[in-house]
Amino acid sequence: MAFVTRFAPSPTGPLHLGHAYSAILAHDMARAEGGRFLLRMEDTDLERSKRDYDLQIQEDLRWLGLAVDGPILRQSEHIASYNSRLEALVAQGFLYPCSCSRADIRAAVSAPQEGVAFPVYPGTCRHRSMASRQPGDALRLNLGAALNSLAAADLAFAETGPAHSGTQVIDRDKALTRIGDVVLGRKGEDIVAYFLAAALDDAGQGVTHVIRGEDLFDFTPVQVILQHLFALPTPIYHHHRLIRDDQGMRLAKRDDARALSKFRAEGATPEDIRRMVGLPES
Ligand code: GLU
Repeated sequence: MAFVTRFAPSPTGPLHLGHAYSAILAHDMARAEGGRFLLRMEDTDLERSKRDYDLQIQEDLRWLGLAVDGPILRQSEHIASYNSRLEALVAQGFLYPCSCSRADIRAAVSAPQEGVAFPVYPGTCRHRSMASRQPGDALRLNLGAALNSLAAADLAFAETGPAHSGTQVIDRDKALTRIGDVVLGRKGEDIVAYFLAAALDDAGQGVTHVIRGEDLFDFTPVQVILQHLFALPTPIYHHHRLIRDDQGMRLAKRDDARALSKFRAEGATPEDIRRMVGLPES
């Protein structure tokens, strides 16, 4: 079986040790399988994404010795195509307009993160039809309706990560209470949510194995559901352990103290970075 994986950072800050672990692991797994290692910039947050970080990420990967296969996909260049996919979901009746919270809409642009409360929507606007849509309304997925439309066999995914290895059956009630009706976008505008863009791009790039941090495991069901709604293949998932600081906290972008560029400036080598994140030497 072909093996295609990707590293999908958001260029909203410097890469730190946690990113290095994720990228090296994905790269090494691809190389071990004779597969491909792709790079995707998840830059749909047009306010926070910066070209300098994009360039720095490329430089850091080069320095780590991780050669990227094929061209870089930048999500900001595909907003129109995500929007046309939103239209398809509107036509299927799985979306509704929502005017509730602008903070939720902003949060929807980025991937959820451990330690940052995920806003599960109480469903206030779920009764609204698309005909009632006002300019500026967000579009939410009616997760209950989406779940009901899928066959039981579709509500599962294969996982190879250390914490949950094996077939994962999607629990309907858990999905509704922990994920809920997520924002997928804002029709005709520049807001495209992480969940939608990543699910579409994993299929579009032919990704067979999604290798990423454990903090996204709980949210995988929504991407699997979206893939089924679009009749797209579901990749195999591998959620890896998170690199934590001395206090046990997941490293965050703002944690510049652990930026790769800083270690590098202090004379660390790529082999030192591998050792620091507990990976074998290359
Ligand atoms: N862009 C996401 C992040 O930086 C990664 C999402 C993914 O790998 O699916 O957290």
